[in-house]
Amino acid sequence: MEFRDLKKQYLVLKEEIDNAILEVTSEGNYIMGSQVKEFEEELAEYVGKRYCISCANGTDALQLALMTWEIGAGDAVFVPDFTFFSSGEVVAIQGAVPIFVDVDCNTFNMDPDKLEKKILEVIHEGILIPKVIVAVDLFGCPADYKKIKQIAYRYNLLILEDGAQGFGGSIGNKKACGLGDIGTTSFFPAKPLGCYGDGGAIFTNETDIAELLCSYRIHGKGKEKYDNIRIGMNSRLDTIQAAILKVKLNAFRNNELTIVNQVADDYSRRLREYVKVPDIPEGFVSSWAQYTIKLTSLKERDALKVFLMQKKIPSMVYYPKPMHRQKAFEKYQYKDEEYNITNELVNVVLSLPMHPYLEPQDVEFISNCVIEFCNGK
Ligand SMILES: *Cc1c(COP(=O)(O)O)cnc(C)c1O
Repeated sequence: MEFRDLKKQYLVLKEEIDNAILEVTSEGNYIMGSQVKEFEEELAEYVGKRYCISCANGTDALQLALMTWEIGAGDAVFVPDFTFFSSGEVVAIQGAVPIFVDVDCNTFNMDPDKLEKKILEVIHEGILIPKVIVAVDLFGCPADYKKIKQIAYRYNLLILEDGAQGFGGSIGNKKACGLGDIGTTSFFPAKPLGCYGDGGAIFTNETDIAELLCSYRIHGKGKEKYDNIRIGMNSRLDTIQAAILKVKLNAFRNNELTIVNQVADDYSRRLREYVKVPDIPEGFVSSWAQYTIKLTSLKERDALKVFLMQKKIPSMVYYPKPMHRQKAFEKYQYKDEEYNITNELVNVVLSLPMHPYLEPQDVEFISNCVIEFCNGK
């Protein structure tokens, strides 16, 4: 059994994907071929934003967004403590200071009350200027944008939605990646919409931001080729990846997103009495980048992981370390006691196999093994 079965997906979509790749190789426009623009247009429409600018990966997407906002030295950027490293890394690359915020114990997303507390602390200290909130849609569930927007408005901050895991999710009729001032996503193979290598995209409604992003992603280019008007990056989505993504977006939209939600419902129905299953707020839809349960202790979590391994079921710990404890951020000297929830989550979370090609009998088998473990302990 695979944790995320990409081979099975390929076999289902093989003919279309092979044809899409062959089309690119026969045309030979490997960089910024027509498929890139076509894919960007389809994606912008799906997410419900005016512009989609693709790029080389989800980390660059975040950094490019911060570049267009000119975030740098002296700025404070608020980032959840429980997330993938990139969400905070890009802030430090830009020379700004990542201010980590503890998360909600049920949704795993940034806690808005604690966010406001951190903003007030930074203002009170008077050293850094609060600029951006990086809201992460962790494991596919959108963050609490209603509350985050009120706070952003109150303190005049921009919202950068890190939708690397959130793509496909929604709140009401609003799609993830379109919930902030700028939204980003990643097409790393294991993400909800993945390609066959690295890829990413940025979403905005603003024409001037879209133009800046197009410039920054190609060496800060001006109107003419070899005319460079700002320092940028080399961050494009390969034509081959765009061609593959066009096929995969169709499958995602037509059935995969519905199926992962059925898989999640099935897991939760079976496991609810035995472990803490994911909590998706009313009116929210998750894209189920991960299906993550909570155990009661580190010992129990690790024992379940071993137990599942013996049954040949892979499981993963996302994430084993809070951001504030990463060595790379050592110099900022965060206070460990301000991150009680994340400190606890890293010990008790476990993500189970999750993807749209997981068979109902697999969900039943995995669930029964978890139940067997819980009954035997
Ligand atoms: C994967 C991920 C990223 C980075 O995406 P890459 O394409 O791997 O650079 C950023 N943020 C979150 C929350 C992620 O899960």
